Amino acid sequence: MTLLDQLDSAISVHTGEQIAEKHAVDWTFVNHCTPDAVLRPKTTEQVSQILRHCHQHAQPVVVQGGLTGLAGGATPGSGEVALSLENLTGIEEIDTQAMTMTVCAGTPLETIQKAALEKDLIFPMDLGARGTANIGGNVSTNAGGVQVIRYGMTRALVMGLEVVLPDGTVISSLNKMLKNNAGYDLKHLFIGSEGTLGVVTRVVLRLFPKPKSRCTALVAFNRFSDSIQLLSAVQSELSGLLTSFEVMWDLYYNNVAPTVNTFTNPFDTPYKAYAIVEITGNHQQRDMQLFEEFLAAQCEHNIIADVVIAQSDTQADNIWTLRHGIGDFGSSQPIINYDVSIPIGRMDEFANELMRDLDQSYPHITTLLFGHIGDSNLHVVIGDYHDNEFSRLKDLVHELTGRYDGSVSAEHGIGKLKTGYLPLSRSSEEIALMQLLKRSIDPKNILNPGRVITL
Ligand SMILES: Cc1cc2nc3c(=O)[nH]c(=O)nc-3n(C[C@H](O)[C@H](O)[C@H](O)COP(=O)(O)OP(=O)(O)OC[C@H]3O[C@@H](n4cnc5c(N)ncnc54)[C@H](O)[C@@H]3O)c2cc1C
Repeated sequence: MTLLDQLDSAISVHTGEQIAEKHAVDWTFVNHCTPDAVLRPKTTEQVSQILRHCHQHAQPVVVQGGLTGLAGGATPGSGEVALSLENLTGIEEIDTQAMTMTVCAGTPLETIQKAALEKDLIFPMDLGARGTANIGGNVSTNAGGVQVIRYGMTRALVMGLEVVLPDGTVISSLNKMLKNNAGYDLKHLFIGSEGTLGVVTRVVLRLFPKPKSRCTALVAFNRFSDSIQLLSAVQSELSGLLTSFEVMWDLYYNNVAPTVNTFTNPFDTPYKAYAIVEITGNHQQRDMQLFEEFLAAQCEHNIIADVVIAQSDTQADNIWTLRHGIGDFGSSQPIINYDVSIPIGRMDEFANELMRDLDQSYPHITTLLFGHIGDSNLHVVIGDYHDNEFSRLKDLVHELTGRYDGSVSAEHGIGKLKTGYLPLSRSSEEIALMQLLKRSIDPKNILNPGRVITL
């Protein structure tokens, strides 16, 4: 009897031609590989049963959420079956007193955001792929996004978790309390471990009151270093209000802005860098006055070269389409998307050295720099490269990151595409402990094998 024959007939199993094309690759669109089968459980019990059987048969499994990952983690390897969470969806509870939401892992991020808003609350994690990415994927990658500077990464927004271990054991730790020091906080083993230690099936999320004010500006700078000065100033002078600080270098602006039809360039002259700065608070009129006075003072100090302030939510949303436009830009042509962290004080030097090295060795490529600079997170997007340059470009960006004591993954994770670079950002002792954990929890190495670490 094969493994598939042993599964409960209630579990949806697709094989051969039934397998939808999307299951062959994540958003990196490299190394396509159709899985041997796609298993689509509807309940935690079904996930447990699948893993119990896969464990018995030593059958490798790749876990798939919304497949918007940018590290190749959800892309199947040869001989793997895909465990997709797309049927395990739904919001189970919104507790307005505890300010928590309990959701199933396959629920899209956007559905969660909208459900919170209906209760006058917010779930503040936000990223461009919100319509497709699932909360299970967000938790497993410890996703960042555009509001980390205010609310932290996904790790800071998870109160409790239910996970299924590689042998089928269900660990239900659906805690709702902010304080709970009863032993090890096991959820942190699974958050950010990219599906290598367990399958997330349910999550208790932390919600926040919906802000009553929102002020958004698009700021232009003559130098990138001025954006760092503005960041320090806004953090000290508008303390507690800063929600987003997204910087885009000139090449990003010049290449992406013309592709976004909801965005019109408001500036007459070109500048070296731009930032979307957003504050949120509790009093629209008072906060806007503070924001305008602050920005005017920064213009007088020559930190800001030019600025436009959104006068409505629609205008603010249109400014944001510039930043989120990188998603469509990336879908329209092959790009490589690097996601590194660099200590903020060395970001300018890093960016200059990187651009110099790339210009010298690869004059034909297009390089766009942008990022969540307040979180030390820089995205480097490269287009117009030749296929045979893929590996050398990866080496160049990651080795330079290592030399600057940065991290080869700020938020997308290591997946399969960056395992070779992990030693640039983690010590051999750290990697050995990761391997020890993996061997203890998944002794047959069946769950997302070859992702994050190699054994
Ligand atoms: C346009 C665009 C913008 C993006 N912006 C950001 C951004 O600002 N910040 C950011 O951090 N990321 C960003 N991403 C990357 C991506 O959206 C995130 O990594 C997201 O968290 C992945 O969720 P997913 O459901 O698509 O996961 P998938 O791609 O399906 O999987 C990602 C990893 O998690 C594992 N996994 C998925 N579900 C589970 C589960 N239930 N249990 C255990 N393991 C699981 C997979 O095996 C894989 O290793 C962006 C991607 C796109 C396409």
